[in-house]
Amino acid sequence: TASVATVDPAVAAAISSELKREQEQIELIASENIVSRAVLEAQGSVFTNKYAEGYPGKRYYQGCAPSDAVEQLAIDRAKQLFDCAYANVQPHSGAQANGAVMLALVKPGETILGMSLDAGGHLTHGAAPSMSGKWFNAVQYGVRRDDHLIDYDEVQRLATEHKPRLIIAGGSAYPRIIDFARFRAIADSVGAYLMVDMAHFAGLVAAGIHPSPLPHAHVCTTTTHKTLRGPRGGMILSNDEALGKKFNSAVFPGLQGGPLMHVIAAKAVAFGEALRPDFKDYSRAVIANAQILAATLKARGCEVVAGGTDTHLALIDLSPKGITGKDADEALERAGITCNKNGVPFDPLPPTKTSGIRVGSPAGTTRGFGLAEFAAIGEMVADVLDGLAKNGEAGNAAVEAEVNGRVRALCARFPIYANG
Ligand code: PLP
Repeated sequence: TASVATVDPAVAAAISSELKREQEQIELIASENIVSRAVLEAQGSVFTNKYAEGYPGKRYYQGCAPSDAVEQLAIDRAKQLFDCAYANVQPHSGAQANGAVMLALVKPGETILGMSLDAGGHLTHGAAPSMSGKWFNAVQYGVRRDDHLIDYDEVQRLATEHKPRLIIAGGSAYPRIIDFARFRAIADSVGAYLMVDMAHFAGLVAAGIHPSPLPHAHVCTTTTHKTLRGPRGGMILSNDEALGKKFNSAVFPGLQGGPLMHVIAAKAVAFGEALRPDFKDYSRAVIANAQILAATLKARGCEVVAGGTDTHLALIDLSPKGITGKDADEALERAGITCNKNGVPFDPLPPTKTSGIRVGSPAGTTRGFGLAEFAAIGEMVADVLDGLAKNGEAGNAAVEAEVNGRVRALCARFPIYANG
């Protein structure tokens, strides 16, 4: 019954510093969010103790009635949220969800077609270092050089040439709406399955303010912790219940053992929150805030990849300022603004350096920042970047300290987890 502070002061100190960091920094990492107290409570609950291999009503252990109840709530809410016939809420992460779909639909050595990492795709979509790139014949499509949009003609050409078993749409740094109907037509033309990985924009789909891939894809995968604002985890959705049976077997016993019941409980809470009308208001604000952030950075001399954003994230090309993503994300952290370096399409620099940063609005919008605040954040980011451009990679300590003052003042006006 003793608290972590009593039992393990070292871990308690790390937790406190993380809380303080989240409270005092502006979070622009596009894949992060700030969950509610209710989600935290569910994830920190006694469900962490339970083994519940199997699915509701068909478990391999006794004592699973509460687990059945909570997992069924999560499944039913997910199906309602995304208006679909099938949901598996057990994947431990987005990567596991993608792995399970591949296990169900593709055999080692067969061909998959996904977006390349440098064009904004995810590692699990066939990148060389990941399992998807090692176990399958991974063919990759990209974006056009002139407008940074997916080159659908190239996707069709590669599909016709390579006859993939699985085509993957969706990515981690692609800011524009994807033409899911076009992807399905390409998949149908070669007899491929279409998987849409909507990890990044799932919350916007749930809110009904972004086109849903579900009417088009054979299967959709997602994480639950980005725009969807739940606990870290993954999920598989489909309208094809026969395929759903295959995905269930691929998740368990194919890829995973016992489900993380505490995380599933937290997923159920988050899905319940996303079903409420205020989640739509939140999601609308997420997009408007990302757009004003991108527009502010553009006005201050950055290049915005694809000219702007339809979603929660923008990819900022820093090459007009002559600075790298690596120097930029480090300088911004010194000023109290967190983001990540990110390659831009046709980036001449390696992934350890990059020419860009990725910024996103989900976390800041959760804490209450609106248009005025995101415009101000854009100015803060630009001030730090200009300090770097003038002073070289060491940055400009005076500018960074001055911006940090503004960051702290803004965060103090929009507190999170105020009671610890
Ligand atoms: N798919 C996409 C599009 C992602 O952006 C991510 C996360 O970065 C993942 C999958 C993987 O999710 P996780 O980190 O939960 O494994």
